[in-house]
Amino acid sequence: MAIKLHDSLTRETRELKPAQPDGVFRFYNCGPTVYAAAHIGNFRTFVVNDLLRRLLELEFGADKVKHVRNLTDVDDKTIRRSREEGRPLAEVTKQWTDKFHADCKELNCLPPHEEPRAADPKFIREQVSMIEVLMEKGNAYRAADGSVYFKVSSFPDYGALSRVKERELQVGSALKAQAADADEKEDASDFALWKAHKPEDGDVKWPGPDGASEGRPGWHIECSAMSKAILGPTIDLHTGGVDLLFPHHENEIAQSECCNGTTFARHWYHSEHLLVDGKKMSKSLGNLYTLDDLVGKHGSDEMAVRYALLAGHPRKQLNFTLDSLHSAESALGKIESFYDKIEGVFSKSLPDAPSGRFASVLDALRDDLNTPSALGALFTAMRELDSNFSSACRADFDSFKQALFALGFSFSGIMHPVAPVSIRLLAEKRWAAKQAKDFAAADALRKELTAAGWSMLDRKDGYSLEPVKK
Ligand code: AMP
Ligand code: ZN
Repeated sequence: MAIKLHDSLTRETRELKPAQPDGVFRFYNCGPTVYAAAHIGNFRTFVVNDLLRRLLELEFGADKVKHVRNLTDVDDKTIRRSREEGRPLAEVTKQWTDKFHADCKELNCLPPHEEPRAADPKFIREQVSMIEVLMEKGNAYRAADGSVYFKVSSFPDYGALSRVKERELQVGSALKAQAADADEKEDASDFALWKAHKPEDGDVKWPGPDGASEGRPGWHIECSAMSKAILGPTIDLHTGGVDLLFPHHENEIAQSECCNGTTFARHWYHSEHLLVDGKKMSKSLGNLYTLDDLVGKHGSDEMAVRYALLAGHPRKQLNFTLDSLHSAESALGKIESFYDKIEGVFSKSLPDAPSGRFASVLDALRDDLNTPSALGALFTAMRELDSNFSSACRADFDSFKQALFALGFSFSGIMHPVAPVSIRLLAEKRWAAKQAKDFAAADALRKELTAAGWSMLDRKDGYSLEPVKK
């Protein structure tokens, strides 16, 4: 069974396959803006992309997938942060890039094969030369201040991905979404390819395209230029969160197709957003979680966060709550104990069979990344095998391991033992008692936890749980 995935451009579910004769599947995934710790909404998108990467590897072979994910290390937000902190831009973005990598590792996301940075001089040159081609071809123009804009009216297919023209008719203002700097532009829907240097940019500037001022690239051009430089003019799959569909990806298509004269991405995939307690995540609502918040303050486990992020269908909004995290911890605990159990069973020699019980997990994932159905299939197969181990065959073990690989659940090294929900509830009660300075109750609850085999390690801002060392 091939991998079928929803394509945001055609709105159809289509088979994924490499187009080039070398059989390499070319996959580009828009990466993070590195000015702060990524939140768990960002990580929903990156974990879903990691699931895709793993499935592609299983389908085409690990050496036949080329995965590129960029780092946005120069834009308004990164520059503002560096100015506020009085630190060089490169120092700020390096700090948050390192943090992003550490979080990805904790969540067991495979690193991309290449991770180009927008501010890398090599890629600044690629962006500048792409802008020069667009200017020569009449798709871009220099504005009075020395910035360069893409002329949206020069690309008749503009809006095909987001149906922005239809929306424009409906709501009257979608195209005006990119109306910042309107004074300099010929048309409000045009967007910046190159931004002339402004005093607030400090020392962040590079020589511009021919005829333009020194300055910095606009955001959209980085993905077009870096994807072309590494993967070539046509890629097999381009992905990102749903908020990138317009204007980012619409603009990427316009730039790339006008420059290269060929299809940019053969398949587009957008995963939906994560909500927290039913609302958009925001600092002011106090519902913005980073991985450290969940692991540090709430004593959860990174793998459980991964599980919780995969529990909902990637093309539907997912509501994250601490309860959903606790359910994920308990589900993961069951998978881990099953894993421990079957390692013993499968170390013996077993009969072969053409297909294992866990093949249905991969089938569900190949069917437009249906993660809820895949997790359901995983538990069904676990229950079935658990009730009849004498019927186990080698393919059951192989398909179980493949399913865990695809879902990215790792039980070696990275994994801390997961406490069951009953233990977590006791721990939360004890933490609340301690916060309320009811130390007698807190001590009694600690004893209860120890008797149940768990010790609670307190820190200033939270706690973690560990099995009592025997
Ligand atoms: P950024 O660092 O803002 O460029 O975002 C990195 C990725 O996270 C992009 O693919 C966004 O679409 C995605 N993203 C942003 N907010 C959310 C959210 N609440 N849920 C899921 N993905 C998100
Ligand atoms: Zn991008």
